[in-house]
Amino acid sequence: MNMMNTKIERVNPEQIDETIMEEAGRLIAEGELVAFPTETVYGLGGDALHPEAARKIYAAKGRPSDNPLIVHIADFSDIERVAREVPEAARKLAGAFWPGPLTMIVWKSAVPMATTGGMDTVAVRMPNHPVALDLIRKSGCLIAAPSANTSGRPSPTEASHVAEDLSGRIAMILDGGPVGIGIESTIIDLTESKPMVLRPGYITPQMLSEVLGEEVIIDPGIIAADDTRKPKAPGMKYKHYAPKADMVIVDGPSDAVVSKINALVHQKQENGQKVAVIATEESGPSYHADVILSMGSRLDEDAIAQHLYRILRECDELHVDAIYSESFQTPRIGQAIMNRLLKAAGHTVIHCD
Ligand code: AMP
Ligand code: MG
Repeated sequence: MNMMNTKIERVNPEQIDETIMEEAGRLIAEGELVAFPTETVYGLGGDALHPEAARKIYAAKGRPSDNPLIVHIADFSDIERVAREVPEAARKLAGAFWPGPLTMIVWKSAVPMATTGGMDTVAVRMPNHPVALDLIRKSGCLIAAPSANTSGRPSPTEASHVAEDLSGRIAMILDGGPVGIGIESTIIDLTESKPMVLRPGYITPQMLSEVLGEEVIIDPGIIAADDTRKPKAPGMKYKHYAPKADMVIVDGPSDAVVSKINALVHQKQENGQKVAVIATEESGPSYHADVILSMGSRLDEDAIAQHLYRILRECDELHVDAIYSESFQTPRIGQAIMNRLLKAAGHTVIHCD
């Protein structure tokens, strides 16, 4: 692909620079790509109704073309521009969670196949970030935006991660500082007979079910560790978020996990390998490894989500050969965190007791 000069602009979310945002909006309207912060991860934006812009997104990321893009909107009424009809459930969920980290799948109307990866449905989200909302409004477009990483790498939670992956491939990066949540939106499919979560995230099935007043099921395809069931969201089948080194999760009571990981690290080091351990503030000092990376306090699950992708990227930068990670089955968003961590580890888990 043709390389270009990528402009990086710092934007303070509390005091948005109008001139920069007008330029960014114009670039989107002209069919160019702009990466921008959202509350979940950084997105790579292009005009959702412009097939050429959608194609540029796939090319810049090296994303498989069957993996559809999420359409970002700034006002609820915009959903009518892409949905064949707006289900009552979408109104209820939007009332409770938009703007916010929830993506809804509905039957689509006039959205180009290039944006929806050939599907008859469309994914829609209203992000809760002043820079994202301002960019959508200034562009006058609906913005198709997947995570702004090279396909297969961890999603970007800081503008420097975007620059690492996409410099020279996109017109502009809006740097709004580190994101708040750190893992991608929850995806709920409203085209099935029962609402179904296709990707776990910050908004849990319980929260969705309380608002809808009905049961919300979880796509069996995302829980299976093997290929026997295909996930319904095409993107969930790819080996995502993976650091370059081999990664193994060790699960069990904390003392047993520490002994097991220390033994495994020792073996690798005997063979001359450089090893990282992904731990917490509490457990970190108990490990003996080349690098110990802390996800924050085990009691603070929001911090764990926030640090996850940066830590996976750090493993690449540190050129470690092996990574051992603790397991993070925390009460609320543990399912979302473990979904990403298990993929990063290619579902390799050692259980100990
Ligand atoms: P990303 O924006 O990189 O977080 O990826 C978007 C995710 O949404 C991918 O896993 C897609 O497969 C999924 N997705 C987008 N549109 C649809 C759709 N119409 N039906 C099912 N999954 C979708
Ligand atoms: Mg992604």
